[in-house]
Amino acid sequence: MKRTETQALIETVMSDLAERSSFLGIEDDEKRRFVCGSAKEILKTTDKVIKSYIRVSTEKDGIVRIPAYRVQHNNISGFYKGGIRFSEFVNEAEVENLAILMTLKNALHRLPYGGAKGGVHVDPRKFTDKELNLISKKYVQRFSRDIGPNHDIPAPDLGTNEKIVDWMVGEFKTIHPGEPYLGSFTGKSVENGGARGRREATGRGTFLSYSWLLDQWSGTHANGTDINRHKQWDTLKTLRQQAEDGKAIRVAVQGFGNVGGVAALEAYQYMKYNHQVVAVSDRFTTLYHEDGLDVKKLIEYTKNGRDLPSNREQLLEAGVTAQVKPVEDVLTIDTDVLILAAIEDQIHQDNMEEVKAKVLIEGANAPISLEADDYFEREGTVVIPDILANAGGVIVSYLEWKQSRVTELFTEEEIIENMSKQMIETLKNVYDTYFSSVGQTMRTTCFTLSLERLTSLLYRHGKLF
Ligand code: GLU
Repeated sequence: MKRTETQALIETVMSDLAERSSFLGIEDDEKRRFVCGSAKEILKTTDKVIKSYIRVSTEKDGIVRIPAYRVQHNNISGFYKGGIRFSEFVNEAEVENLAILMTLKNALHRLPYGGAKGGVHVDPRKFTDKELNLISKKYVQRFSRDIGPNHDIPAPDLGTNEKIVDWMVGEFKTIHPGEPYLGSFTGKSVENGGARGRREATGRGTFLSYSWLLDQWSGTHANGTDINRHKQWDTLKTLRQQAEDGKAIRVAVQGFGNVGGVAALEAYQYMKYNHQVVAVSDRFTTLYHEDGLDVKKLIEYTKNGRDLPSNREQLLEAGVTAQVKPVEDVLTIDTDVLILAAIEDQIHQDNMEEVKAKVLIEGANAPISLEADDYFEREGTVVIPDILANAGGVIVSYLEWKQSRVTELFTEEEIIENMSKQMIETLKNVYDTYFSSVGQTMRTTCFTLSLERLTSLLYRHGKLF
């Protein structure tokens, strides 16, 4: 989903809210339309876009000039919050889209944060550690006045990790001596005040958003009148039945990093219903095995940043039986569940009809286009959208940020329990609303719940006159 699509969906949902007679307790139609119109303009647009250039001297290309961004979308529900990505696809529109999604994600999960995102236009694999260290420090130098523990709190995202965050925290501390630097970033290493289980949190939460739906929902919940909703309900019932009859539920996972790798392992180890991970992919390869891949061995093989095995020797070395397929095959493979945990814009008008999975889960941000979303809704395919499914990371970020304030460390069990509890509260709320609604996708349900909260806060804060 691109920025224009996110903004279009905000527009649609806000127009619906304006016509809802009880919304915000405003009886007068004209007044309610005016208030919602103002909120729509605020939420469709961004508070601040900061662009800068980082210059670093590299071994290969001499001095390079790299565009870098921090976009602060909105802070009505709390301090700006969102990761920083290092990727060759970074551009202003993309970072802005991701910042808007952070505002909606945080509001949906009732975290006391607004939304922001950062981006650096580099492929981190092409730089040495020393160069990445310089890029990270310079990023903080450029944006040091815009970030901080009580204003805007970055975290890792695509292409960044705890090592990069630790470097950034170090630079923040040098620039702002005496400030409570531990709360300035989340996603730090545990040794540096990070939360245990933060790295795994997004992947765990992504699988939970699906497994909870499969486990906890009995047939009585399908009480809406919408014909599509009953189709989706049947999809889930059929899957459950299949597992109860002893036939494993097949899962394919696009992306084998922090999100995809962990989600694949969760599926592989899931006890309640038998799942088989039949396909996984990374940037270059899709691996497929109809009787299921040994995910544990693949995790072991890729541990030190290696790509998935992609030829006979490498598969032998990994001890894994699999067929090597073209990378794009993961999207259209014969599977029941597809977890999208790579990058945005993966399923759209051109390939949506080839997708065979009946449940799609967005572990990455924005991998499915709005058009494809509507198509899947009509087809009875269940789409669990990004702002619902992949919030495990930012929920644990919140726990890490809290822990930095009280200088007390949570155990990994406490973190997992807290994250699951908070996720389940939102999942329940969204699934209750979605399965009894008419004529809307699950993404629209999520946007509606977020925008209700954000509009109500804007209204209470007196911003809509
Ligand atoms: N980058 C993650 C996301 O897209 C986590 C952000 C955070 O922890 O602030 O949700």
